[in-house]
Amino acid sequence: MKRAQAVLRLKRGRERARTHPWIFKSEVADVSDVEPGAAVTVIDSAGTFVGRGHFNPRPALCCRILTWTDEPLDPAFYERRVAEAVALRSRGAGGAPALARLVWSEADGLPGLIVDRYGPALVVQCLTLGMARARPLVVAALTRVLGPLPVFKKDEDALGRLEGFEPAHGWAGPAGPATVEVEEDGVRFTVTLGAGHKTGLYLDQRENRLRVGALARGREVLDAFAYAGGFACHALRGGAQRAVLIESSPEALAAARQNLELNRMAERAEIVAANVFDELRRLERAGARFGVIVLDPPPFARSRTQLEAAVRGYKEINLRAMRLLERGGWLLTFSCSHHVSQARFEEICRDAAADAGTRLRVSAPLSQASDHPVVLTIPETRYLKGLLLEAV
Ligand code: SAH
Repeated sequence: MKRAQAVLRLKRGRERARTHPWIFKSEVADVSDVEPGAAVTVIDSAGTFVGRGHFNPRPALCCRILTWTDEPLDPAFYERRVAEAVALRSRGAGGAPALARLVWSEADGLPGLIVDRYGPALVVQCLTLGMARARPLVVAALTRVLGPLPVFKKDEDALGRLEGFEPAHGWAGPAGPATVEVEEDGVRFTVTLGAGHKTGLYLDQRENRLRVGALARGREVLDAFAYAGGFACHALRGGAQRAVLIESSPEALAAARQNLELNRMAERAEIVAANVFDELRRLERAGARFGVIVLDPPPFARSRTQLEAAVRGYKEINLRAMRLLERGGWLLTFSCSHHVSQARFEEICRDAAADAGTRLRVSAPLSQASDHPVVLTIPETRYLKGLLLEAV
């Protein structure tokens, strides 16, 4: 006997062609009896098929559509989606890259799923209950598309709590190496799978690290919020005279030290274990000057209510960094807060420059690496914004 299909009916007024995969509880007229995390068919108030997605009654964002076509979310579906995502990253690269984000959630039509490749291993992060349940299908699809690479599961505790699943941490099948060494545009990084932030590295900053490498020759470089030293290593490889790293997390400081040593750059680097806010003030008092400064803070605004405090924080670090910048120097400044738009961020930097009395040319807007694609109709896919500023 065929089991009745789980159906989610949208309220009247939600009939317009949908191009965004999120459905909030407030948009739902009714849902048939469906297991949390299972697939559901979304229909409009007239009963017309809209899409098919994962349903979860727990969070306000209760359904994410995976397909706008009337097709089953079966192993072949996941294989097609994964193959498309990998093909996008392979474009012009002559094959799947060895270090890259291969699947990025909504941007690749697989909401709730992140897959990053770190050389000989893959790291899979599930952000939703639906994707956590579908993980065996994802792992099977990855094996079919990429061959048998070991898969490390690294979910985030906060999302597990929000969505109601046990965050996974460990190998999905046969164990791979505990640490891997990867190469990013001529710089080597050691990544301990399962440790550190995100899936191991901030892959979204790759193209900006390359830029810093190109600007750094002969300069004194300040890498604030350094994490594992990515920007500093690229600056030193690009011929920087010296790099100063500021970071507060002991784990990140140890990783940065290891990466500097791995690239034989430790003697040109100074690692400062400190709060960036305090250290920028101290450097200013000491009369320090830098030719390249990178400000890559964590998201100061994790919610809309934190926005005003976040704006003050961004302004403060930018103002202090501008005072430390020598004439002709470069400031690369970022915000990864979803709630701060590019326009707002530019306004904050403008205020900071006015207070610092610094004249800066906007050399380029900065954004996330191209393996974190932006979907025009899903503005949330653009989250990293920044400016390349030149002191004139
Ligand atoms: N630029 C890095 C990523 C930075 S992520 C890269 O390209 O890889 C932000 C880092 O800032 C994290 O490592 C976090 O530990 C650190 N951090 C957060 N708040 C801080 C503070 N107030 N002072 C110093 N470091 C801080």
